[in-house]
Amino acid sequence: MTYEPVIGLEVHIEMQTQSKMFCACPVVDSVSAEPNTAVCPICAGHPGTLPVVNAQAVEYALRVAIALGCTINPVSIFARKNYFYPDIPKGYQISQYEQPLALNGKITIETAQGEKVIRIRRVHLEEDTGKLTHVEANGEAEERRNEATASSQTAYSLVDLNRAGVPLLEIVTEPDFRSAEEVRAYAEQLRALVRYLGVNSGDLEKGVMRIEPNISVRRMGESALGTKVEIKNLNSFRALERGVAYEIKRHIAILEAGGTVAQETVGWDETRQATFSQRSKEDAHDYRYFPEPDLPPLVVSQAWMNRVRENLPELPWQIYRRFVDEYGLSRAEAWGLAQERMAALYFEAALKAGSSGVRTVYAWVMGELLSLLNASGKGFETCPVSAIELAALLELMRAGKINQQTGKTVLGEMFESGKSAAAIVAEKGLTQVSDADFLSSLVAETLAEHPNEVASYRAGKVTVSNWLFGQVMRKAGGRANPQVVRAELERQLRIEQNTN
Ligand code: ADP
Ligand code: MG
Ligand code: ZN
Repeated sequence: MTYEPVIGLEVHIEMQTQSKMFCACPVVDSVSAEPNTAVCPICAGHPGTLPVVNAQAVEYALRVAIALGCTINPVSIFARKNYFYPDIPKGYQISQYEQPLALNGKITIETAQGEKVIRIRRVHLEEDTGKLTHVEANGEAEERRNEATASSQTAYSLVDLNRAGVPLLEIVTEPDFRSAEEVRAYAEQLRALVRYLGVNSGDLEKGVMRIEPNISVRRMGESALGTKVEIKNLNSFRALERGVAYEIKRHIAILEAGGTVAQETVGWDETRQATFSQRSKEDAHDYRYFPEPDLPPLVVSQAWMNRVRENLPELPWQIYRRFVDEYGLSRAEAWGLAQERMAALYFEAALKAGSSGVRTVYAWVMGELLSLLNASGKGFETCPVSAIELAALLELMRAGKINQQTGKTVLGEMFESGKSAAAIVAEKGLTQVSDADFLSSLVAETLAEHPNEVASYRAGKVTVSNWLFGQVMRKAGGRANPQVVRAELERQLRIEQNTN
């Protein structure tokens, strides 16, 4: 019997605005900030306080919704989602329910099977909860994310309200995914998008972007959906992919054995590489949603929508497409650049600033330069070598003024000192030597110094020529034009052979 996995995704994105969703408290890094330092009576849920909508949060939400091709509701309604938990001081979360900000968008993902359109069901605004830290009896602090429950070992729990009231965007898809690979491709694109739009840092491990897949399995050919299980606490793409694959297998095994899947919420245990049951799934009616009486309907004018649309940057999938079509990059290369906007911009600026071809520029940007960035913990946005300076270095190599090996040394130097390639080459006298007579004498000298190697070359061990080539280059202080040396070496070795 064959089964078909069916998956839909709910993604929560913290919007990194100046202030919180309904009060003036700053949005702080919830990992490094001192607990409860960004809290006021509004986000602490004191009676008698009133929320005010943060316009920047709406603007950010519009950017994402419009980039996803959604229809924006000119009027949307905030609603109270009621439940009790210590990290939700008001006893309800302000969210949007029946009339969300946006509906019906889409993302086209790229997988090994080709392109596929994933439909976005809705995009709505809400506020984040606080954070709980459960402390075990032995005194070891164990942090659990949003909604995780205390265990039997919990002695007491700490509440940090810095995150309570941080603007949150929820993006919900239709159940359009059929594999863990598709889920990952979507999540990567969405992460790239929110980073491009300046809405979120994309740090999954910090919990600022939380991906919750709903997974079910059905018999191939069946149209009704199977019972779904939702996975929480996935804080990396790898965990996401593995968690989904794990649940698919688990469901199939249950169905094969004649059992039924229970609807529940599960967590992902990174150590065991397995899911564990957290709670049986609540239904929407448990939350007793009703319109938020303290907030007027949210009105978004056509002019506002237009302004946001006109100011959108070129989106990750558009850059990706263009790099494949215009520059002939492979899909993996194009996506490698497109997922980091600054890398894509850097590559294109370097390409346009010089006369080197796509392959050369790509190789230097994603090879030598990227390793320097990685080694120094920098990104393209803080790269000490500008795209124009890199292009100037590539020009020196293209014109034969320096060779590749020298080019690498010079780039390292540029990275360290911030000096231009031309200045470093002039200062250190690194200009490549192409003079044929001079190189010819260096080759002759080298062969004379290594009669044994020349003899073994003659005896048929032709790979010795590589070693001899290295000796000549060393004599020239690495500055010799390698093509000229190679040709001259082969010529002289052949002559010697012929004369013997
Ligand atoms: P809930 O109200 O429990 O959050 P929704 O119906 O709003 O459930 O759906 C939440 C997410 O789960 C959506 O992305 C949706 O596409 C997906 N989904 C719903 N039912 C199923 C199912 N049976 N199998 C897989 N995904 C599902
Ligand atoms: Mg849900
Ligand atoms: Zn506040």
